[in-house]
Amino acid sequence: MKKILFLIAVMFNQLCFSYPMPHPFPPFRIAGNLYYVGTDDLASYLIVTPKGNILINSDLEANVPMIKTSIEKLGFKFSDTKILLISHGHFDHAAGSKLIKQQTNAKYMVMDKDVSLVESGGKTDFHYANDPSIYFPVTKVDNVLHDGDKIELGGTTLTAHLTAGHTPGCTTWEMQVTDHGKQYNVVFVGSINVNPGYKLVNNKTYPNISKDYEHAIKVLKSLHGDIFLGAHAGYFDLKHKYALLNTSSINPFIDPIGYKKHIAQKEREFFKEFEKQKLDSES
Ligand SMILES: [Zn+2]
Repeated sequence: MKKILFLIAVMFNQLCFSYPMPHPFPPFRIAGNLYYVGTDDLASYLIVTPKGNILINSDLEANVPMIKTSIEKLGFKFSDTKILLISHGHFDHAAGSKLIKQQTNAKYMVMDKDVSLVESGGKTDFHYANDPSIYFPVTKVDNVLHDGDKIELGGTTLTAHLTAGHTPGCTTWEMQVTDHGKQYNVVFVGSINVNPGYKLVNNKTYPNISKDYEHAIKVLKSLHGDIFLGAHAGYFDLKHKYALLNTSSINPFIDPIGYKKHIAQKEREFFKEFEKQKLDSES
């Protein structure tokens, strides 16, 4: 009987949870003290300092052992993770946070407007609140961040830029790295994707959504993404750049043109959808 119940639970889970399971990806140094420790799709980053490490994005709960293994493969300790940050409070970037907090005692720092999202485990999401398949473990936030806040650890500073719309507290992180004697500005795009079904006009649960997207696009255009990264590996073509890493004399992750192209493309996509929804709402 127990076995049957278990099988039903597994089947139910698979029906609800349609997210394709990400695969492991080899961990590697991107530049300076910045490392890739995510999966082939869900990007996680480790910033190593003499005072301990910063981890950006906890991914799915099931990915936490992969992240831990990646950190250890690079020769670092998972338990040295002092600060945990996220790109935004959706399950694919934040579901593993509770587990990581338990295993490392890292301080969880989240942008003010995404705090309720992670502390409710997705139940206050403006769009997905009624979709239990996106719920994730409720996680306590230790430090509430605000737009422009700087996080300093062991000589590295990260700036939190509010680039809302995708979620109300969606955060684009910015930092500087020194690599082979040169300094580069790194931008981790939090996401300006308009998800299928997002209402950009007359949105009752997120009235400012279109204004927030427009502001996010403006902020992202003002940043210099010498090294262009983001919440999903697909934004910056991780696989292609990784393949070039050992064959090219120039670090393929230094890609300011790719950064500008990505923002321009997402800007076009946003305004196309926004104009369409405005027309539909008038007719
Ligand atoms: Zn998202």
